[in-house]
Amino acid sequence: MKRAVITAKRTVEIQDVEVPKPGPGQVLIRVKAVGLCTYEQRYFSGGVEDYPFHGGHEICGEVAEVGPGVAQKLDVGQKVVVISLTRCGECYFCKRGLDHLCENGDESHEPGVLWGPGGLAEYMLVRSYEVFPVAQDIDETWGTVAEPIGCVLRSVEKGNLRYGDVAVVQGAGIMGLLHVKLACLKGATVIVSEPDEARRTKALEAGAHYAVNPLETDLVTFVREKTDGRGAEACFFTAGGNKAVEEGMKSLVKCGTLVIYGSVRPASPVGFIPNDVHYDEIVITGAIKTTKDSSQQTARLLSERSIDVSDLITETYPLEQIETAFDRAMSAQTYRVVVLFNG
Ligand SMILES: [Zn+2]
Ligand SMILES: [Zn+2]
Repeated sequence: MKRAVITAKRTVEIQDVEVPKPGPGQVLIRVKAVGLCTYEQRYFSGGVEDYPFHGGHEICGEVAEVGPGVAQKLDVGQKVVVISLTRCGECYFCKRGLDHLCENGDESHEPGVLWGPGGLAEYMLVRSYEVFPVAQDIDETWGTVAEPIGCVLRSVEKGNLRYGDVAVVQGAGIMGLLHVKLACLKGATVIVSEPDEARRTKALEAGAHYAVNPLETDLVTFVREKTDGRGAEACFFTAGGNKAVEEGMKSLVKCGTLVIYGSVRPASPVGFIPNDVHYDEIVITGAIKTTKDSSQQTARLLSERSIDVSDLITETYPLEQIETAFDRAMSAQTYRVVVLFNG
């Protein structure tokens, strides 16, 4: 089989290796499509210089072989999404149902084993609990978005949106757009705050009701105008700086929730007046990663086509053109670039 390994900055080597055999609890996946996420892009661009690196963690494929002792029912040829989750199942957080915070969840280098999630290959071995069956007729490129959907789904649920609520989404990159789509599914009116005009247009096409440029329009005033002066029930910060976080807080109604989904780099303290939180009962929380539960929810949403992600797949490339695919993935004009296997 062929696999794509990043061996140096801006260098991807296509290597021929043996197809692995699934051991106990493992499933061999025939990979069909892999999304190139920021995580892989950092290695390709040289931002992280830890080579060789075998990327690929946003994966759609089919079951090729099931190892002994696999409990869930999987048929050979079954279409699945693979959500790379290392979960011990035994630590404090796993026991509390917070498996995304697993204390033993971080992948680390094992001596003699190629480093990385390993989806950029014609076949890959995964643990059975990382495999989520989806409808057989789902487009493989859609399946690659399962992991980001799982992460955003948790974020939107932490915003406690109810029908008729107003949600602010700050940033309209792929994560912002997924927040728009999932907040709309919850019946919310969505206001997007995004400085880039093309991205604002994309957000409106994705279902946002309003899209404002925070450099020209005061977001807090705009939100208050649209809510009889009250504010939004939830604000999702997916991109921007400290000023955006502060604006997000100020745009909330009493008892509203700010979910900090994106990171701010470099990070520095944000100011707020404790009394505002005290009197208005504002909730400030965060969201990171996907759980087994949100992955399962995502598999259902995709299988039923409750969420349409075709507008997020900007371009696809065969394995042979993976370096071009990485270049395009890093461009500001693309949302997701997907590598297709076997034609
Ligand atoms: Zn990702
Ligand atoms: Zn654990």
